[in-house]
Amino acid sequence: SFKQGKQRYYIYKDAMKEGNISSLSLQNELYHALDKDQFEIWYQPQIDTVSSKVEGMEALIRWNHDTFGIISPSQFIPIAEETRWIIPIGTWVIRQVCQDLVTWLREGLSYKVSLNISYVQMEDEMFLTKVKEILEETGCPPHLLVFEITENMLMKDLALSLNVINELKILGIEIAVDDFGVGYSSLSYLKQFKLDCLKIDRSFVTHIHKDINDYAIVQAVTEMSQSMGLKVIAEGVESIEHVHLLQRLGCEHFQGYWYSKPVRKELLPEKIQTIHRE
Ligand code: C2E
Ligand code: CA
Ligand code: CA
Ligand code: CA
Repeated sequence: SFKQGKQRYYIYKDAMKEGNISSLSLQNELYHALDKDQFEIWYQPQIDTVSSKVEGMEALIRWNHDTFGIISPSQFIPIAEETRWIIPIGTWVIRQVCQDLVTWLREGLSYKVSLNISYVQMEDEMFLTKVKEILEETGCPPHLLVFEITENMLMKDLALSLNVINELKILGIEIAVDDFGVGYSSLSYLKQFKLDCLKIDRSFVTHIHKDINDYAIVQAVTEMSQSMGLKVIAEGVESIEHVHLLQRLGCEHFQGYWYSKPVRKELLPEKIQTIHRE
């Protein structure tokens, strides 16, 4: 339809602005990227500041294109969602992460790994079946997996989110609310979901040292989540100032460039060693 076409046009335009890549060709090539084995998972460490140790990581997809090089997910995930190719791509992500987790376990390393789930995947009626199959096929312990679902996604269709989250929890998978604070839900509203973790959106952390409102928001979210028994992870921790202020507010779990950017899994052991030495 015209409306759909227009919507698509805007997605292409946005993607083009970011990377100067013709998005029409991008969409076309995205369709073959899975077959061509062009996706990679990069991992960003998450730090527990009480033990000063890496406790886990977030899996972030990258598209390693033969001519454009590494393409960031913000450029192709919206297209993948629009076309629903996010369903097979998302399945690939879950399988890849489970395989990596099992490889690390064999090496004696036990990390929690978070991965991002799109709303389009949650709507797919085969989603839970696929997750179960992958767990069985890879032998990945579900308690080491965290599925990140954005606050806005949770609110989109409450009945659907409640059902999918309940089923994932029955499987033993943990649930984190991603980008918390940018949506419209209140914490008391979130109580009906069986959640494990809240991730405070980077937009509140970035200016925490100079914006009194951001400071107050992070403080309120941290205090309330702790009283609800939820773990809080601060995203976008970029400086030692951020670290100190967040610690003062009682936040103990950090993710951000201050510790490490997302890296290819080959570089992860070295990165983790560096974090542990500092
Ligand atoms: P997100 O889930 O909010 O992931 C965090 C993003 O913030 C990542 O961008 C990460 O590289 C970036 N980041 C982390 N720490 C810092 C920091 O200290 N400073 C700054 N400026 N940025 C930081 P990335 O990897 O480009 O991913 C962008 C978004 O793409 C993700 O946002 C997520 O919404 C989506 N995404 C990534 N991988 C997947 C995936 O496998 N599936 C789906 N559905 N979405 C994904
Ligand atoms: Ca995330
Ligand atoms: Ca996030
Ligand atoms: Ca985000």
